[in-house]
Amino acid sequence: MPGIQSYDTIIVGAGFSGLYMLHRLRGLGMSARVYERGSGVGGTWYWNRYPGARCDVESVQYSYSFSDELQREWQWTERYAGQAEILRYANHVADRFDLRRDIELNTNVVSAEFDEAENRWAVTLGDGRQVSAQHLVMAVGCLSNARVPDFPGLGSFRGRVYHTGEWPHEGVDFSGLRVGVVGTGSSAIQSIPVIAAEAKHVTVFQRTPNYSIPARNYPLSDDEKRLWAENFPEFRRRAREEMRNGIVSEIPQNGALDVSDAEREAAYEFRWKRGGIPFMSTYNNLALDKAANDTAAEFVRRKIGEVVRNPAVAKLLQPTSYPIGTKRICLDSDYFETFNRDNVTLVDVRHAPIEKITPKGLVTGGKEYDFDAIVFATGFDAMTGSFAKIDIHGRSGLMLKKKWEEGPKTYLGLMVADFPNMFLITGPGSPSVLSNMIVSIEQHVDWVADCLAYLRRRDIACVEATRGAEDEWVAHVNEVAHTTLYPQANSWYMGANIPGKPRVFLPYIGGIPAYRAICNDVAANGYRGFALTRQQSIAAAE
Ligand code: NAP
Repeated sequence: MPGIQSYDTIIVGAGFSGLYMLHRLRGLGMSARVYERGSGVGGTWYWNRYPGARCDVESVQYSYSFSDELQREWQWTERYAGQAEILRYANHVADRFDLRRDIELNTNVVSAEFDEAENRWAVTLGDGRQVSAQHLVMAVGCLSNARVPDFPGLGSFRGRVYHTGEWPHEGVDFSGLRVGVVGTGSSAIQSIPVIAAEAKHVTVFQRTPNYSIPARNYPLSDDEKRLWAENFPEFRRRAREEMRNGIVSEIPQNGALDVSDAEREAAYEFRWKRGGIPFMSTYNNLALDKAANDTAAEFVRRKIGEVVRNPAVAKLLQPTSYPIGTKRICLDSDYFETFNRDNVTLVDVRHAPIEKITPKGLVTGGKEYDFDAIVFATGFDAMTGSFAKIDIHGRSGLMLKKKWEEGPKTYLGLMVADFPNMFLITGPGSPSVLSNMIVSIEQHVDWVADCLAYLRRRDIACVEATRGAEDEWVAHVNEVAHTTLYPQANSWYMGANIPGKPRVFLPYIGGIPAYRAICNDVAANGYRGFALTRQQSIAAAE
């Protein structure tokens, strides 16, 4: 296209996916440009700077494995890295691999349109520029569309308003302030103890209590670092090939009801003391069998009851309406303990929903609460929300938003029928948010890079998921989800946090090893389920 800057590939987003994608494409000798709406790299770790923001996968595991030099030279300081350290790591990667020269920051992608005659994507940027590429890689993240519920009077509050997912870079000083926090998901659970330690008073508005496991963060010892450094290849292999969620831990051999009550209690106690997500891997049927799940749920409820001194508050904090783990499990540092503080109040908004925001605060149950600041920890339009912000038009002008009206349809979470040459990194229909994101990101980026190299070797101009393959995959994703307890919760995994969003299970729950095997098999069989087209002729199909 004359006058228009063109590339082999355009990548949307400079988070962990976009950075690695750029690095891989460079290695293949392809030209690529990354557009990033933030003023820095790091994606989710660039935006989520709320107090207490910390990864809930252990740092050594939540890191790239693609470069042995990188994984040896970078030293994590804590068991779970804080947001600032992870952001430093992302910046280090950008510098170390000289990625910045192909990244444009502060640049929104407004729309992308597939040109069927040319087999190219025409992309419009926020400043009105047009750019073009043969391939488009959507590395937009799964939780990057922060949302505040549509409360009446939202704009009327005269104090300060924050959302955890779009936190001010300069930080916030809550000293002496009366703060209202809306929401009790992972972001709230991490931030409330830190805000409460600083603020005059914190009022937490809870609609649904969450199961949370102690993180038990600590500085990493030299011995632990050495253990990883000496065993990186084996640990990484296990994360990819053996662990359903891509996090190395013991693989449970028993079901929760196969052992005696005393043995089960001891096992939960051991994992509770050790802390971390592997609590949910104490037994192999916690996600599958309600009676088994009840034993873990009851254990956590009991722990909450032991920590929280006021029985009425403890009861409100004890989840009962969904199986443990079917909403994303939270990790915390002194979350339940925080409700023993004199300056923290819990308000139930399940039975008396928030009615409106007022100039002074908010109203629930007919009572007005006055604040100096309100923190919305109300989450994201997950997985599809990041795509919905961009006008994406495929064949015959079909809009992605329209196609996904009744729920996202993808083949393998990697491509969408009628949207040729467009790849999704950790898209809906892939393990993504149910896994260690870095493990899933690396797998997708490698798969896409290998695919692009394959296409180039064969002079293929267009790759596209067939509708048949896509339909089969969507059915499979649903079928597997419904063999588990997950659909029983009103979670963002189900799209249930957004009024009007279709209730479909968004990620693929079959586990990383099974999913990787399917993707590898598809590639090894000439990209089964994809139509591959030369400029003039169809080279291969299903
Ligand atoms: P979230 O889990 O979606 O939590 C949102 C909270 O806001 C929920 O408690 C929700 O209540 C509440 N809420 C929403 N609308 C409301 C309304 N109209 N009235 C009252 N309450 C309302 O969001 P998040 O905490 O930001 O976490 C999102 C995901 O990000 C996590 O699940 C996790 O995957 C990721 N994350 C990870 C980390 C980490 O790695 N450490 C940290 C933070 C987040 P309901 O439950 O009733 O809908």
